[in-house]
Amino acid sequence: MAVIYLDNAATTPVWPEVVDAMLPYYRENYGNPSGIYEFAAKRKKDIQNARKKIADSLGAEEQEIYFTSGGTESDNWALQSAATMAGDCKKHIITTQMEHHAILNTCVSLEKQGVEVTYLKVNENGMISPEELEKAIRPHTCLISVMYANNEVGTIQPIEKVSYVAKKHHVLFHTDAVQAYGHVTINVKMSGIDMLSASGHKLNGPKGIGFLYVNKDIDFPPFLHGGHQEGGKRAGTENVAGIIGLGKAAEIAETMMEEREEKVKAMRDYLMNRILTEIPYVRVNGSRKTRLSGNCNFSFQFIEGSSLLILLDTDGICASAGSACSSGQSSPSHVLSAMGVPDDIARGTLRLTIGSQNTMEEIDYTVECIKKHVRKLRAGSPEYEDYQNKNLANQ
Ligand code: PLP
Repeated sequence: MAVIYLDNAATTPVWPEVVDAMLPYYRENYGNPSGIYEFAAKRKKDIQNARKKIADSLGAEEQEIYFTSGGTESDNWALQSAATMAGDCKKHIITTQMEHHAILNTCVSLEKQGVEVTYLKVNENGMISPEELEKAIRPHTCLISVMYANNEVGTIQPIEKVSYVAKKHHVLFHTDAVQAYGHVTINVKMSGIDMLSASGHKLNGPKGIGFLYVNKDIDFPPFLHGGHQEGGKRAGTENVAGIIGLGKAAEIAETMMEEREEKVKAMRDYLMNRILTEIPYVRVNGSRKTRLSGNCNFSFQFIEGSSLLILLDTDGICASAGSACSSGQSSPSHVLSAMGVPDDIARGTLRLTIGSQNTMEEIDYTVECIKKHVRKLRAGSPEYEDYQNKNLANQ
């Protein structure tokens, strides 16, 4: 049975053109970019070309892009460097309650080192308030880190407003754009972003490669000590094939962004409409307006999302109960809790994230499978039976 892959926020299929671009760097062009002979030195040029493509895609300069092992490392680097740059005085970071754990757990680690952290609340749509952000600023605030788009509910934050507040108070602004880069147009200069994290495997590139953009005016500390790679800031022999793959994925993402957005959004809206009209007691989590085009996040009342996932798996459908990292845990997602979704509703959550490789036929099949399984799971639910009986008694 062919797999229907609807978990594109967890990772994406690598485009064949990306694999084709990478293969020669394993097979023939395997030289270490630090070598002085031409066979190796050419790899340095290839890396620079990829760096330029990525810089161009963000309106940045080449020297502002630092390759990393992915989003987690970029997030760690951004937060830790802001704390280091603040020196020995009191330090304060502002972030949000709905960040990815790459941010939240770095904050927890920094708190243990004496850094104060404010976790901004979000509203029921998963949006932060720029006014609340401004109120949270203290004299020793050294960083604001607000994600560009959320991995569970897809909401896109008001990045320009956040950056306006940050600039007004002379505070650095970092954004975790792991879910957004390659999917929405980002211009770091126009948006006033000082640091930005991205990851290759979320835009049909390889896993284990990402980058951190850092504005060239910021004198930030190295993350890995050793050789001179990445301007001496992130030592270690470069993941050449990964970098080439990421560059290619960024190039493809840029050229097909509009077409992709239109296609994915049409499937997403169709899926949402069918689920909301054909299944009772279901809600969409997250803003309907400012949302990544491929993200659907539903909560089905009276069922466990994990049971639905298992049944969908038997139909060959790959979905998620929330983020890849939090699915498998029995506690409700921290993102939905932050949005005030009651635990009993949050437990019935299913995230479907659509990619441009998906088809309307797959969506139709998925809707039919969800309808069938939700009906079956509710038929075995004492809460659902109780609810129906109460309804009947009230009629
Ligand atoms: N930040 C966000 C918003 C994510 O969605 C993810 C991965 O799901 C990460 C960070 C971590 O990225 P990576 O898997 O490249 O370490």
